[in-house]
Amino acid sequence: MVNFKELGLVNTREMFKKAINGGYAIPAFNFNNMEQLQAIIQAAAETKSPVILQVSKGARNYANQTLLRYMAEGAVAYAKELGWENPQIVLHLDHGDSFELCKSCVDMGFSSVMIDGSHLPYDENVALTKKVVEYAHQFDVTVEGELGVLAGVEDEVQSDHHTYTRPEEVVDFTTKTGCDSLAISIGTSHGANKFKPEQCTRDAKTGRLVPPPLAFDVLDGVMEQLPGFPIVLHGSSSVPQEEVETINKYGGALVDAIGIPEEQLRKAAKSAVCKINIDSDSRLAMTAAIREVLALKPAEFDPRKYLGPARDNMKKLYIHKIKDVLGSDGKA
Ligand SMILES: [Zn+2]
Repeated sequence: MVNFKELGLVNTREMFKKAINGGYAIPAFNFNNMEQLQAIIQAAAETKSPVILQVSKGARNYANQTLLRYMAEGAVAYAKELGWENPQIVLHLDHGDSFELCKSCVDMGFSSVMIDGSHLPYDENVALTKKVVEYAHQFDVTVEGELGVLAGVEDEVQSDHHTYTRPEEVVDFTTKTGCDSLAISIGTSHGANKFKPEQCTRDAKTGRLVPPPLAFDVLDGVMEQLPGFPIVLHGSSSVPQEEVETINKYGGALVDAIGIPEEQLRKAAKSAVCKINIDSDSRLAMTAAIREVLALKPAEFDPRKYLGPARDNMKKLYIHKIKDVLGSDGKA
């Protein structure tokens, strides 16, 4: 059993309080490999932004939970080496689906866990979330719960429709469970195809699809019920069309890939939304750079020659998100 504090990590409590009061949001970036982690830490260190490193079920299956934990510990040391004296780094379990899994992450040094009981009947979601909170809080680990269902596919989390969070349930849920933050459903969704073309309009100039707006009335309703309570948005990649176009130009076949417009995320970041999850955008940035190198230099076979540019492209994306969308630069 190791506590996150021994690893130099922090939980989300202070971070979220400051973000709500300051009108910005903390980036929550998923990581699965070294290049992605380097890019996240370099971006956060250079911009002095607090950052949440997320480990999903898919990441644990791909890279191994223990290895990812030690990588996060290494990330703290790396951040200091980069000149970030007091790194504000959270290691967070994304979409925990059982008490046992959340417990194993708490015991291993995670500083924050999500228990996602959003697919369960309400009372079962309350009971499961409460059980995780009671365990995690003994070690000062913060817990994210979820109400409402997001559409889309993210690793093994998937649903073909979304159900908006019901603002009338949020006070009861957070009071009964004691959770520290709440993920809600207001129309964001997992994956790189967040909307079907028939849900969108088409921009006459560019021919690109324009998605429907997020349900800010639902967010307003939640904030009215829970003033000052930390709110989380999942599935908030913007699916940059230039990355999609690069991928398709060099042999990819992404069809109707579309995300959440950044101006809507900027608006959300200024509200009680204090954690915004971004995963697909990083995948797109990585894939675009790799495809470009392999297409333009077919004789290249040194992985560093395509993973290096992929890392640079992800770092550029992370810095853009931190500075131009979430506004978390200079806050750590
Ligand atoms: Zn999610």
